[in-house]
Amino acid sequence: MKILLASPRGFCAGVNMAIQSLDLTLQKFGPPVYVYHEIVHNQYVVNEFKTKGAIFVDEIEEIPDGSTLLFSAHGVSPEIREAANSRNLHAFDATCPLVTKVHLEAIKYAKEGYTILLIGHEGHDEVIGTMGEAPEAIILVEDEDAVEDIHIPEGSKLAYLTQTTLSVDDANRIIRKLRKRFPTIESPPKEDICYATQNRQEAVRKLSDGADAVIILGSQNSSNSQRLRELGSENGTPAYLVDGPEDLDKNCFSNEQTVLISAGASAPESVVQATIDWLTLHFDGHLEEQMIREESVRFPLPKKLREIQSDD
Ligand code: SF4
Repeated sequence: MKILLASPRGFCAGVNMAIQSLDLTLQKFGPPVYVYHEIVHNQYVVNEFKTKGAIFVDEIEEIPDGSTLLFSAHGVSPEIREAANSRNLHAFDATCPLVTKVHLEAIKYAKEGYTILLIGHEGHDEVIGTMGEAPEAIILVEDEDAVEDIHIPEGSKLAYLTQTTLSVDDANRIIRKLRKRFPTIESPPKEDICYATQNRQEAVRKLSDGADAVIILGSQNSSNSQRLRELGSENGTPAYLVDGPEDLDKNCFSNEQTVLISAGASAPESVVQATIDWLTLHFDGHLEEQMIREESVRFPLPKKLREIQSDD
């Protein structure tokens, strides 16, 4: 079996920053450190942090007064920040700067009187956080059909934003439809779908043509990992989204000559390596890595954590 390994894959700059932030917070303040929502959407990462003393919560009210808190990479709404303040929580913010960019765009457009059409998935942590910046000004658009259902007064100023981890192709289809229906709709100068989402999708799109099966490492609640699996299966190729090799069935690969592996932006390289080892062991696999695009993006730790680090 040829194991085709897509590059870039796995951790992005935002996930690296969020993980380092939680590591440093645990090191400096000791456990427990509360984290609002999963630090990133990956079971391995979350479970490992649980063993180190991180406690993941979905409600600020679950956190005892005065505790240390970290906001996850997906960002939070102002309401959540205020709730944390009112409980005297010692809060740090590991929101990815590329998510913050979308929040700032939402605030700017709302202040200027625009109605904002946010292309994204209902219920995703990032979408909840962004909508919370200007709830009265934002309408969520989940798919092409939803474009027909938008009802806004004649002459309204309109802009669109997107979730950072969407399928580039799906988002472009929705944007084309929005532009057709609302020709004067505006958008930020630089798109919101982030570099990491775009690069991982580009690699899977280019490499999946030559594969008999596709394995994407990532958790089921990871939006960008789901999009990679969908892309891998576009031409009818079997594509599996799994947390690790323990979720794979040997029978699915017994006739496959070439298997493509990639990983969502929140999946650690250790599970990629474990999957390569599993295929090598069972199918005498040999590895070929294909670099589609180089990445060199790095994000600094949040300012408050940098200050604590430099106090040493
Ligand atoms: Fe930031 Fe993109 Fe990574 Fe999300 S996927 S954390 S937006 S770099």
